[in-house]
Amino acid sequence: MQNELDTPAFRLAVAQFDEAAKRMNLDRNLHQRLKLPQRSLMVSIPVRMDDGRVEVFTGYRVHHDMSRGPCKGGIRYHLGVTLGEVAALAMWMTWKCALAGLPYGGAKGGVKVNPKSLSRDELQRMTRRYTAEIFPLIGPDRDVPAPDVGTDSQVMAWIMDTYSQQVGYASPGVVTGKPLSIGGSLGREDATGRGVVDVTLAAMKHLELDPSQATVAIQGFGNVGSHTARIMQEAGLKVVAVSDVNGGLYNPKGLDIPDILKRYREEGTPLGKIRSGDWITNEDLLQLPCTVLVPAALSEQITGKNADKLRCRILAEGANGPTTMEADAILAEKGIFVIPDILANSGGVIVSYFEWVQDAQRFGWKSKDIQERLHDIITAAFARTLAFATEHRTSMRMAALMGGIEKVAQAHLHRGLYP
Ligand code: GLU
Repeated sequence: MQNELDTPAFRLAVAQFDEAAKRMNLDRNLHQRLKLPQRSLMVSIPVRMDDGRVEVFTGYRVHHDMSRGPCKGGIRYHLGVTLGEVAALAMWMTWKCALAGLPYGGAKGGVKVNPKSLSRDELQRMTRRYTAEIFPLIGPDRDVPAPDVGTDSQVMAWIMDTYSQQVGYASPGVVTGKPLSIGGSLGREDATGRGVVDVTLAAMKHLELDPSQATVAIQGFGNVGSHTARIMQEAGLKVVAVSDVNGGLYNPKGLDIPDILKRYREEGTPLGKIRSGDWITNEDLLQLPCTVLVPAALSEQITGKNADKLRCRILAEGANGPTTMEADAILAEKGIFVIPDILANSGGVIVSYFEWVQDAQRFGWKSKDIQERLHDIITAAFARTLAFATEHRTSMRMAALMGGIEKVAQAHLHRGLYP
């Protein structure tokens, strides 16, 4: 492995890929090629800070594979961003898009920064300069970024504007997850959470569990965690725990999610000050007795060290890469049903695809159509993955990876090797 890529997340992505490739007897040349990104760009981003100083941030954009279409994947603003992490996330995007049947390859971007430490103006200047630096890589037919950890629709709007200023006309299709006013899609904001709930309900049906008797614990209260909490409750499940980086709330009788959302999101009250449950650590949250556990924060949360302590029936991975391979083996032994990340959190990129199609058509869809089409695509991907896992006696993770890798392999074999 190349040194710069050698990080825990990239090792995890490659170990998963190696295992799937071995099981499916993947062509050796393709295996070698797909272990590494197609191209990686590292950029320096000088930003004039509000006090007049110039600070230089480091950013990346990685294309893992574009054999099936333009690359697709979010942009992450987080202090933990490294080339290896971005490359791992790009690889997972390739399998995710292929598994869902979207005509996309996989990419990811990131800037090593704590976005909360910047003023709004600094964040805007940083975003615009980052966009200018990765300009040669992006475009509606080339690579289409989206939100991820630490970025939102406002950041996407600045990217869209910077790109559009360069090409000389409004180019909404260059990013997804935009505000509605510039070509965003209805239903994109909560799409990842909605998809998590769709596949959780499908898994409960398969396992013959009654949603009205189910409890849910969610780690992470950003875009994915907060919308998952709300939609789980709307679907009749009882959300007993939520958390953010500092820790979380637990109430076995069920939390009032709309009230927590109002106070946390709109009024900015820290979770610790919302006294509708007991205060617990993130580590405690993972170990609560519950029907469904949703890790919706960062990678490598469930490891060889704590997997044995999990007490859920279903693990629905809202985050990317939350579970190590060592943990996977323990979860399998415990009989926990895992809905792997590239399936469970694919609702986000599925509705990103709808947004991109609407931008290309210059024609907006109704909210009902978006929710129905998302439901159809994600539940069909769940059913295919479950059928494959059952038939080949593999884990859901391996079935999902093999489903995605197979489609990418077919595309490569049909296109052949250039030159
Ligand atoms: N960042 C999200 C993910 O990890 C969404 C990517 C997209 O919509 O392109 O799947």
